[in-house]
Amino acid sequence: MKKLIAGNWKMNGSLAANEALLDALAQGLTVAPACEVAVCVPAPYLAQLRALKSTRAALSAVGLGAQDVSAHASGAYTGEVSAAMLKDLGCRYVIVGHSERRQYHGETDVLVADKAKAALAAGITPVVCIGETLAEREAGHTEEVVKRQLAAVIHTNGHCISEIVVAYEPVWAIGTGKTASPEEAQAVHAVLRAQLKAATDQSARVKILYGGSMNAANAALLLAQGDIDGGLIGGAALKAQDFLTIIAAAHA
Ligand code: PEP
Repeated sequence: MKKLIAGNWKMNGSLAANEALLDALAQGLTVAPACEVAVCVPAPYLAQLRALKSTRAALSAVGLGAQDVSAHASGAYTGEVSAAMLKDLGCRYVIVGHSERRQYHGETDVLVADKAKAALAAGITPVVCIGETLAEREAGHTEEVVKRQLAAVIHTNGHCISEIVVAYEPVWAIGTGKTASPEEAQAVHAVLRAQLKAATDQSARVKILYGGSMNAANAALLLAQGDIDGGLIGGAALKAQDFLTIIAAAHA
């Protein structure tokens, strides 16, 4: 399957900075990449990104993504953004359950699963983030934690699970400069692959991305692992040259 390299801009950007970043990406993407590419940007900039993409041919295949979605379809949920609104703005992807949302906004496994369901119902691919904290890893609970997080999404979404993207993001590796070694990451990905296989006969369709300080220097080795189908890239996605290097490292 084609790998997916998705940038997570987090709460960064401005109208001017976004345009400069997209221009630099467009210049570097004159040859179609071997992988799928997406950028998940702050909700207020989705319309800008859509417009910028439409006038830059090199970016036509770059998927647009959001970073969160409401579990509700519409109504009295002040401040929330629905999956239908994201679809309206041209989103192909939405990140759900990022560890920063689990940690700072109290998102539970059940809520994350409901958000994935709302995205799927609107025809958007949820990029479901799962991963253990440092304390959980050190206590030997990595497998148990990621399986519990993924099980909630499988339970709520049934056979639609084949339409999701999973992102394994060890919390201790996000934004810290510490990366899981390719072997550590591969070991967890293999566990997740087996869990998906037990849940659906379409599991071969599900991409499992690695995220957590993936950068221009370490991407190739991580992406060479058998069960790593791409990357979710935070900090390095804000630097056009680094993001382009990671994209180039993602061969089929
Ligand atoms: C992320 O935010 O999903 C992420 C992986 O961040 P970073 O690459 O900066 O660790």
